[in-house]
Amino acid sequence: MNKLIIHNLSKTYSNGVVALDQVSLEIENGMFGLLGPNGAGKSSLMRTLATLQEADSGTAMLDDIDVLNQPGEVRKVLGYLPQEFGVYPKITALQLLDHLSILKGITNSRERKELVRYLLDKVNLYDKRNKSVKGFSGGMKQRVGIAQALIGNPKLIIADEPTAGLDPGERNRFYNLLADVGKEVIVILSTHIVDDIRELCTKMAIMNLGRIVYHGTPQKAIDALNGKVYQKVVTREELPDYARHYSIISNKMVGGRPLIHVFSESDPGAGFEQVNPNLEDVFFSKINTSNVLV
Ligand code: ADP
Repeated sequence: MNKLIIHNLSKTYSNGVVALDQVSLEIENGMFGLLGPNGAGKSSLMRTLATLQEADSGTAMLDDIDVLNQPGEVRKVLGYLPQEFGVYPKITALQLLDHLSILKGITNSRERKELVRYLLDKVNLYDKRNKSVKGFSGGMKQRVGIAQALIGNPKLIIADEPTAGLDPGERNRFYNLLADVGKEVIVILSTHIVDDIRELCTKMAIMNLGRIVYHGTPQKAIDALNGKVYQKVVTREELPDYARHYSIISNKMVGGRPLIHVFSESDPGAGFEQVNPNLEDVFFSKINTSNVLV
């Protein structure tokens, strides 16, 4: 069992933006979801853990590796899957994985050949091994991304917004693959898409404005909202008034009219009906209103 313990990690950029504000998390093997809106600080945290940038203060320990002070050791056990896996012009999937394996220190050519074959097979691209990665679909490129992240038996895999730009079918295949990989190592999946977390993660954190505003299981967060979420279809004109009087969690258009979800300890009346809370309610309640911290 691997364990990543992050304690009071902070980072302020030179322009004064506080991207990480005393972030503390404990993460074990399995899929861990880091959910937050754009600008929450997810990439700053992922890049710091991947040793691509430095923190101002705090600590992060991956088992006995001091992440902030032993970047070389971290890189040996890290698989990193960025938002968009960089495309190498006119190179086949097989050549690319072979090349990246050399960079990761696998110099024995027989061992490398076996590994690359195994990886291509694992991500279901063996048949496409001699095709140029440049011509791959978004989903196929991200599968190459997973394959390269697996080189060198990582203990920690960091996937930073990996499903952006994938269509629903590609996203599903990608989920299955990541879940399969995530059984024996720590996988941190950073995303602003609630569905990514719902489908995949047993543990999660929600981040907003550089802070961790929830850390636990998705179900526990949902349970805490039970009986406290109400919905109503309103008109656009009425919206500002509702926003003044109720704690609106979310607002989405249904059939051309706003359907609002509000947080309320008791029945607000006024034509609201109670709904079963979902992870989306959790997400919006954590990032929009400060009075429902669980
Ligand atoms: P997320 O990944 O959740 O979208 P980021 O970590 O990218 O969040 O950004 C957190 C905040 O830090 C944002 O306000 C962003 O504009 C700012 N930021 C990110 N990178 C830099 C940088 N290199 N210099 C200055 N500000 C930055």
